[in-house]
Amino acid sequence: MNEVLISGAGVAGPALAYWLARNGFRPTVVERSAGARSSGNPVDVRGPALPVARAMGIMPRLREVATRATRMRILSGTGKPVATLRLPAGKGDEVEVPRTDLAGVLYEAAREHAEFLFDDTITALDQDEHGVDVTFEHAPPRRFDLLIGADGVHSTVRRLAFGPERKFVRPAGLFVATMPLGEPPEHPHDLLVSSTPGRLVSIHPSRGDALVAFVFRSSIVDFDHRNPVQHKQIVTDAYADLGWRVPELLARVADTTDLYFDAVSVVDLPSWSTGRVVLLGDAASCVSLLGDGSSFAIAGAHTLATALADGGGLARYETVHRARVRPKQRGINRSAAMLVPKTRLGLATRNLAARVWPGL
Ligand SMILES: Cc1cc2nc3c(=O)[nH]c(=O)nc-3n(C[C@H](O)[C@H](O)[C@H](O)COP(=O)(O)OP(=O)(O)OC[C@H]3O[C@@H](n4cnc5c(N)ncnc54)[C@H](O)[C@@H]3O)c2cc1C
Repeated sequence: MNEVLISGAGVAGPALAYWLARNGFRPTVVERSAGARSSGNPVDVRGPALPVARAMGIMPRLREVATRATRMRILSGTGKPVATLRLPAGKGDEVEVPRTDLAGVLYEAAREHAEFLFDDTITALDQDEHGVDVTFEHAPPRRFDLLIGADGVHSTVRRLAFGPERKFVRPAGLFVATMPLGEPPEHPHDLLVSSTPGRLVSIHPSRGDALVAFVFRSSIVDFDHRNPVQHKQIVTDAYADLGWRVPELLARVADTTDLYFDAVSVVDLPSWSTGRVVLLGDAASCVSLLGDGSSFAIAGAHTLATALADGGGLARYETVHRARVRPKQRGINRSAAMLVPKTRLGLATRNLAARVWPGL
């Protein structure tokens, strides 16, 4: 089993390509985007991802691009200080980096060891006992020994090999929109979070532009993934009555060409492989912004490559990696309630907990 196709060059894809190549496989990575992705929301490299990142030699590069947020200042809806929390990133080796930069650093590490096909996607696959025949939108059809779907929460590989998204993707009741602020942060070490029941808006420091996030509860059941005009309207309607810097931020939403918008979702499948097709990262087990998705993507890539190389196989990958992801997925409602409390009472309780326990 030598020729492996990986769909997706986000976080999991390049990490897997690197470790497969180190173990004697020949990886090819197909990525739908033509270049760097938007949605540079900050993500963490910590826990089980740290030994993997150290072994890849990428820690110095990650530190170069890391955000410098060391504390979170919780504000009321009008911008009044409510509590200040210490952030774990910045302690020890843990780093927080914009997702686009993390993907870029992993790509830098993997690019000499794998073939990358950008601006392309798989359109069909057909597997038998010995391999998978893959059709691409642009590249000629090819046969691979193994196909890995590392193409995120809306995975094409999962749809083609396992079935429609609605079978495996469960909305967590929250929506998220992110965009660059368009200017550097006013406070380079402070993550500012203004909370009201059912809504938060944050300004996150980064090396360049600060990063803005809107996370909110909504009863919307349907939206068009590819319609930025609709996304802007949904965010604007959800925040129209709020104070602090929200009116200014909504004006920036109206002007931006770089708004990421999605439902926060949990991905859960009874099995992560079918024949010679395997899922990794958010495609297999998304916990979105409520977990350690990027760290799990890196750790899972290493576990999968090692299991394939040393004969542990897909069963071992699944056993080891599910044990990491399961507790986060089980705790998703609690995490959502902490992040965006639904009611005034829930918000007051969360804020009180933050005041008495700043390491929260
Ligand atoms: C707002 C937000 C905040 C977050 N905050 C955190 C955090 O603080 N900490 C944390 O650890 N995690 C966080 N996450 C989660 C983290 O970003 C993901 O878990 C992580 O990026 C998963 O990596 P992945 O490689 O599986 O998927 P992705 O990073 O989504 O990469 C998937 C790749 O596949 C590509 N692709 C999609 N479809 C196709 C196709 N058909 N063909 C080819 N390529 C395709 C995409 O373009 C993309 O490059 C957050 C997520 C969001 C949305």
